[in-house]
Amino acid sequence: MGLNKDCMYCMKDERRDNLMIEICDLEVSTVFLFREQTYTGRCNVVYKGHVKELYELDSQELSAYMNDVKKVAAAVDKAFQPGKINYGAYGDKMHHLHMHIVPKYEGKEDWGSTFVMNPDKTYLTEEQYKEIIETIKKSL
Ligand SMILES: [Zn+2]
Repeated sequence: MGLNKDCMYCMKDERRDNLMIEICDLEVSTVFLFREQTYTGRCNVVYKGHVKELYELDSQELSAYMNDVKKVAAAVDKAFQPGKINYGAYGDKMHHLHMHIVPKYEGKEDWGSTFVMNPDKTYLTEEQYKEIIETIKKSL
């Protein structure tokens, strides 16, 4: 489970920080808010180790990770009341287990379809990010 020097999550470097802002640590993961906020409240739950596939986790690790995912999804749901939360684990080019937590809103972007990985159109002020992060933290 060691570090991978090419991985932005392992290296905690600016490639990661350009895309997302750290919210907090949970049991086996770190939670981030995406800077791109087309789907208001969109987060990322990043597993603590450099693991490529979900099936590489043993049942205890898997259960702990899913529990973290559940906590974040519940917090986002409580904070922003979307019509549905979407969950996405892709990582073709990023072999470090992470789950996109994407709130979808009825009648808004991509409702009834898959979310866009990076719509690249909705960015907020640092103050607004802080506000969203506080709102999510209060619900965690
Ligand atoms: Zn990694």
